Amino acid sequence: MGASKTRVGLFTIDPVKLINKKVVNTPEPKEPEDIANTILKLAKELLKESRVSLNDVVGACIGTIGPLDIRSGDVVNTPNLGFKSFKLREPLKKALGVPVYVVNDAVAGVYAEYMAGHGSAYDNVVYLTLSSGIGAGVVVDGNLLLGKDGNAHEVGHVVVDYSSGIRCGCGGLGHWEALASGSNVWKLVVKLSSAWSLGETPLLSLSRVRTVGMSELLEYWRKGDPFASHVVQELIKVNAAGIASVINVYDPEVFILGGSIALNNPDFIFEIVDEVREYLVNRPPEFAITSFKDDVVLYGAAWIIVKTPKQLLKIQGSVNL
Ligand SMILES: [Zn+2]
Repeated sequence: MGASKTRVGLFTIDPVKLINKKVVNTPEPKEPEDIANTILKLAKELLKESRVSLNDVVGACIGTIGPLDIRSGDVVNTPNLGFKSFKLREPLKKALGVPVYVVNDAVAGVYAEYMAGHGSAYDNVVYLTLSSGIGAGVVVDGNLLLGKDGNAHEVGHVVVDYSSGIRCGCGGLGHWEALASGSNVWKLVVKLSSAWSLGETPLLSLSRVRTVGMSELLEYWRKGDPFASHVVQELIKVNAAGIASVINVYDPEVFILGGSIALNNPDFIFEIVDEVREYLVNRPPEFAITSFKDDVVLYGAAWIIVKTPKQLLKIQGSVNL
């Protein structure tokens, strides 16, 4: 469950294989229950289409935008949706009658990579999503990090520019996500446009008429628009500083990127990775783009059901396989 898209997948457990999925734009919720109801509706449609009975389902796992209360399985104070707090675990458990796990989407992402992807040969793995929001999942010494509320890795809210004056959806100032995420990049465009003194450019004119999004900004950058280049140079530094901070804290062997911004713009990611060393103290990790593409969170959620990490078992119980 992301701020932009909601994906539901149906998996076999041995092998862990995606057999069918549904993807919709995450609806702008009118009531807090609308989120759980959307997932439930998609899950039921998926089962029906795939001719699988609910009786044959062993469990469900949701990888969701955070922050979380991992004990209740609720999302609390999320910055990028109409509702800041809503329930996921209880309503889905009740409606499906199976064990339900709820984890941060990037936690599911790193678990997919650790179990079956670029991280499977390593004990120290980071998965970072660059999308509407910015978040990471982290495995250190073979342990999936969760934290007291399930938010041990809210790296999108590290401060990368305390003096920017740009406020994040969460309320904090100068957060990585406030400057460089898909939902917020327009704020950086507006700020930099007010200080720009090198004449009119197509992107600058456009930004005065309406909000400019990430893909548009990167298109103008590729075309050589001087103002777009200026903004993207800032974005490259902001992302490099954020990624380097994550590496400096967690010391991963492999750093895997996903999310729509990373998946759709390898040229932009290449520039960011090239800049990371400017900010590093730790030995650089290998970098990779997730091979699960848009389905990385689905795969991670499936792996959490099949091989539930022990620290999550303690909090959210077990599944009978
Ligand atoms: Zn924030």
